[in-house]
Amino acid sequence: MADRDGTSKGELCLDFANDLGDLFTPVRMLRRMETTTDWMDNGICRDHPPATFFPSDGVGVEVAKRICVTCPVVDTCLEYALENHIDHGVWGGTSERQRRRILKARGIRIPAFSE
Ligand code: SF4
Repeated sequence: MADRDGTSKGELCLDFANDLGDLFTPVRMLRRMETTTDWMDNGICRDHPPATFFPSDGVGVEVAKRICVTCPVVDTCLEYALENHIDHGVWGGTSERQRRRILKARGIRIPAFSE
């Protein structure tokens, strides 16, 4: 069935879908930027054994946090860990407990985190 100007209903729907796609393209681009891990190339933890950032005790946590303090991507790292609900290891200069507290303060409930 064609419209008055000869455009079929299917073609109109397709045009509408394409318009929506155009509208959502910047959102998709932003989403990709949020999940990019390019910043990790600048993390100074690359110069340390990975186990340093997954310590088994409080002393190890403090050692890792001291390294993070001097890292140029510390803020990005922290936000990445919070956004992706990473609950193990030291990220962005914070312990697992500190990140739970930050999320709680932001009103974000993460059921996977244990208290
Ligand atoms: S803040 Fe710490 S964990 Fe994050 S990239 Fe830097 S050194 Fe690595």
